[in-house]
Amino acid sequence: MIGGVKLLNGPFSEFKNLYVIKGIAVNRTILHIGTPETAQLEATVDNPVLRLRMIRDGRVVEVPVIPGSSIKGVFRSFFEKIARSSGERVCNIFDVEQQKEEKTNPCIACRVFGNQGQASRVHFFDVMPVEESMSSLYTVRTGVSIDRFFGSQRPGLLRTDEYVIPGLKWNVEIRVFNLDLEDENSKEARFFKHVLKIFMEEGLQIGGRKSIGSGVFTLVDGTVKKFVLENGELKEVFGGGKKLSEWLSWG
Ligand SMILES: [Zn+2]
Repeated sequence: MIGGVKLLNGPFSEFKNLYVIKGIAVNRTILHIGTPETAQLEATVDNPVLRLRMIRDGRVVEVPVIPGSSIKGVFRSFFEKIARSSGERVCNIFDVEQQKEEKTNPCIACRVFGNQGQASRVHFFDVMPVEESMSSLYTVRTGVSIDRFFGSQRPGLLRTDEYVIPGLKWNVEIRVFNLDLEDENSKEARFFKHVLKIFMEEGLQIGGRKSIGSGVFTLVDGTVKKFVLENGELKEVFGGGKKLSEWLSWG
């Protein structure tokens, strides 16, 4: 206990292993990750795409960005569906009472993705385009306004949505701590790799307007490196990394 606050129970009190998964993903359909409302004041469309200013080759450029939290949310939700379908208990993260218990007795999803009392074993980095900032990356579509409270359409009220055009390549990086992804008896590992497989084979849908097929995001290529501690030294096990598709094919 520090200052009356219990330290996170987590997988990080010791180091067992680390997987670094890096790959290139492509959005096969238009993609909309929105901005917080406060950031929209100067925008020329109602729902602009989230952008990030960054330095590349000494220049400040502005690129579209997919927050790691968005990808994590989609991964977790898919993982939960697979776990539930396999008979596993999965908690409801919005149930305040249940979440108090989850801190000490976490369900399989919380054990992998964390909760208020448990650090996540999986870290999803913000995803940015591979290429330099290019012009004409965006397209605008007009749609019917959605009622903020009821989620229903509001006929007659139109709004403009900005999207990233299909076919853009993005750098994806996922790190997995202290979860043995090659343990065939680990359900956590098996379910997580199922989601990775779906990400590679069919794509995950991220961002807004999913019902019109937007945001299909597919991992097209990647490598996985595994690090362990051996005699106090950090060692990379796969000899420079394995091709992600081959590494996933046995599990
Ligand atoms: Zn849980």
